[in-house]
Amino acid sequence: MSYFITTPIYYVNAEPHLGHAYSSIAADILARHMRQRGEDVFFQTGTDEHGEPTALAAEREGVTPRELADRNSARFRDLMPKINASNDFFIRTSDQQHVAKVQEVMQRVHDNGHVYEGVYEGWYCPRCADFKTESELGPGNTCAIHEIPLERQREENWFFRLSTFQADLERLYEERPGFVVPDFRRNEALAFIRQGLQDVSLSRPNISWGVPLPWDPGQVMYVWFDALLNYYTSLSYAREGEDLTARYWPASLHVLAKDILKFHAVIWPALLMAAGIEVPRRMVIHGFLLMGEKKMSKSLGNVLDPFEVIERFGADALRFYLFREVSFGQDGSIAPSGFEGRYETELANDFGNLASRTLAMVDRYRDGTVPTAEADPEVAGGDDGLAGVAAEVRELLDRVELTQALDAIWRRVRRLNRYVEEARPWDLAKDEGQTERLDGVLYSLIEGLRVVTLLLFPYIPETAGTLLDALGEDERGVPEFGSREGGAAVERIPPLFPKIES
Ligand SMILES: [Zn+2]
Repeated sequence: MSYFITTPIYYVNAEPHLGHAYSSIAADILARHMRQRGEDVFFQTGTDEHGEPTALAAEREGVTPRELADRNSARFRDLMPKINASNDFFIRTSDQQHVAKVQEVMQRVHDNGHVYEGVYEGWYCPRCADFKTESELGPGNTCAIHEIPLERQREENWFFRLSTFQADLERLYEERPGFVVPDFRRNEALAFIRQGLQDVSLSRPNISWGVPLPWDPGQVMYVWFDALLNYYTSLSYAREGEDLTARYWPASLHVLAKDILKFHAVIWPALLMAAGIEVPRRMVIHGFLLMGEKKMSKSLGNVLDPFEVIERFGADALRFYLFREVSFGQDGSIAPSGFEGRYETELANDFGNLASRTLAMVDRYRDGTVPTAEADPEVAGGDDGLAGVAAEVRELLDRVELTQALDAIWRRVRRLNRYVEEARPWDLAKDEGQTERLDGVLYSLIEGLRVVTLLLFPYIPETAGTLLDALGEDERGVPEFGSREGGAAVERIPPLFPKIES
C-alpha cells in the first residue's frame, strides 16, 4: 500500500530551529516504520518561500527575494541529513512546476464558482502576512506577536467561499473521527467550524513575490493557499518524467504543529473540495517544545541547542530524547539536564549496556555465534513480553502515538535487563550441567536485543543500524520474536552511547 507523509513546509524567513527538527523527525519515524512494514512510502518536506515577509526581509538585506529564498531554503535542506531524516523529496514553493500546478488547481476552484471579488478592510501585519481579527489585536492596534503597529488596509481582493463548505466539513469530521488526531485537536477544529465560517481572502494586489492568479494576474495568491497546495503539487513533478499523483494521493498523513491547525484542518480540506480533489486521510497535530528553566547541565549549559546536541551526542540521541521526554501531541518542557539524564540512564545504561553485555557474553561463552535454542517463555510472555511488542508498536504507530510506542519498546529493554540479572548467565557458564539452559538464555537475550533494536530503528536509525550490523541482521523489517534461528555470527562493538565527559 502507498503511504504518503509530509511535514509542514518551513518558512524561509527564519533560521532552522528545534521546532522544524521536531516535525521532521516525527514524520521520519513514521516514514521509516512504514518502510519497515513494506509500504510504498513517499516522505516529503520543503520550504515555503513566497509572500510579503520574505520580500520585506530581502529588501532589508538588499537582496532579491529569490536570492534570500535560495540561501535560506538550502539551510533547511541541509538540516534533513543532520537529523537523520530520510525524506524522498524536498519541495520549494518557488519551483516553477509548483507554481504552474497551483495555478491549474486554483483555476479549477475559480471555474467551479468558489471565488468572488470583494473589498477587504482590516488590520494587517506585514511580518505575519496576515490580517488580524479584533480579538487578536494587541494594545493600540499592534501585532501581539511582533509588537509592531498594524496597518489599516483596504484592498480589492479575491475571496474564497469558505463559508459554503461548513456542512461538508462537519460531515467530513463526522464520517472520519480520526481525520485529525489527537482527539482534543479534532474537537478544537470542529468547534471552530461549528461556530460559523467566514469567507477568506484569497489574493492581494501590489505584491510581486508570489503566484499570480491565472484569471487576474494583477493579484497574487495569499501565501497560505500557495503553501498548502505543496502537498499536492509535488507529486506531479517530484520524479522526472513521472506523475506520482495517482500512486500517492490522497496523502496518508500530514504532520504539523498546533499553530497552523486552522489552515490545515479547516481551509485545506475545503480548498480541496472546491477543486474536486480528495482530501488527505489524516493529520496529526503536535504541541510545542518549551525550554524549561531547570538546573544547569554538566556540559550543555542552560538552553538545549539542538545543533550542539547533534554535534556532541549525535542526531539519534536528540531524536530519542524529544520523543521520550515529551508526549507527542502535547506541549512539553525540555532542558539540557533532562537530556543528559535520559542519555545516561536510558540510552547509555538501559540500552547501551544491554547491547554491550549481551554481545560480550555471546562472544565469551559461545565464540560469537548465536546458539540454537528455543526462546525462553520467561522473557517472551506476559504484559511486557517480547512476543507481543511488535504488534503493540504497529498498533500505536497506526494511531500516531509515537511516545507510547517508544515506551512500549523501552519496557522490553528493561525487561531484558531484568532477565539478565535473574538468569545470571555468568553463573550458568561455570556449570557444565547448564549448557542447554545457557544456550536458551543467550539465545533469548540476543533475539530480544534484535527485536527491540529493529523496533528502535525508526527512532535511532544510525545507532540501531550499527548494532544490527553487529548482530548479523541484514533485514530491517518489523521483527517477530523467536523467528531468527541460531547460527548467526555476532561481534562486539564499542559503546553505542559513550559516557558524557563534562
Ligand atoms: Zn505579526
